[in-house]
Amino acid sequence: MLNMSRRDFVVSTGLAAALGLDARLVISPAFAQKTPDPAAGFHKYKVGSIEVTAIYDGIWEKPHDPAFIKNASVDDTKAALGKAGLTTDFVSIPLTVVVLKVGNRLIMIDSGSGGQWQPTAGKLAANMRAAGIDPGKIGTILISHFHPDHIFGLMQKGTNAPVFPNAELVVSATEYKWWTEPGRVENLPEPRKPLGQRINSVFPGWKNFRLVEGEKEVAPGIRLVNTPGHTPGHAAFHVSSGNQQLMISDDTAYVPALLAPHPEWQGAYDQDGPLAVETRRKLIDRVIAEKMMICGAHFPFPGAGSFAKDGSGYAFTAGKA
Ligand SMILES: [Zn+2]
Repeated sequence: MLNMSRRDFVVSTGLAAALGLDARLVISPAFAQKTPDPAAGFHKYKVGSIEVTAIYDGIWEKPHDPAFIKNASVDDTKAALGKAGLTTDFVSIPLTVVVLKVGNRLIMIDSGSGGQWQPTAGKLAANMRAAGIDPGKIGTILISHFHPDHIFGLMQKGTNAPVFPNAELVVSATEYKWWTEPGRVENLPEPRKPLGQRINSVFPGWKNFRLVEGEKEVAPGIRLVNTPGHTPGHAAFHVSSGNQQLMISDDTAYVPALLAPHPEWQGAYDQDGPLAVETRRKLIDRVIAEKMMICGAHFPFPGAGSFAKDGSGYAFTAGKA
């Protein structure tokens, strides 16, 4: 709020109105961001012969809210953040998208926020270009789930025109069908209705969706992994090349600072809390047993690391395994 000009206030108020939100909740202009952006907005590493590029979209400096974790207090949350060396002033929720280069194919996982989630995010396109990746050459987009920070980048702000009209959009049939089945929007909780309406007014008209049943190989060396709970058809993606593996967990363990030591915590955004906890443990146990690297959309940038067992929870170590 410091140094906010009248014009910035008007822009934020307009954004709030467009999103159907209370303006006080979204007044957070980019210049008020407290977390510095990474020095480079992209980072490349290898999984066997597959080149992975982690691309920074931005951050949500989420104000503390007693409803954020259903079975933990704000003080518990702050203690976990502090232990992980993060600020306790707010919850740091960075957003990173990965692009895989498999042979000469470019495969992206999720689409980022498209500048339509938090005012402090929406940097994917610029950082992708800085990484030398032409967004027009992305041939396949694997979609983990239909939450705004993962799919709004598919749709132009205002018009909903496709941002990647020539890419194949691969998603779990369960996720697609759940969000688009008759009567869904009316049955969503009030805060989720605008998202449901947007999905239903846009996606059924697009011809480039490929719905996947079960844990199929969706691209060479990449297999969909069913990870329900966060949403009914949430998917992780397992990448394998040579003797190396990477689990792209997406929102199964969204903020490791909180959910590694407390895998039992149920986030407000976990649609089915107990199932999300069961799925999280199963996925992390697999990653540990198979000694693979893991990355997640909300892990600290650039997003990859490894887990180890630690008492009844886990310890997360950032950095290439
Ligand atoms: Zn997310």
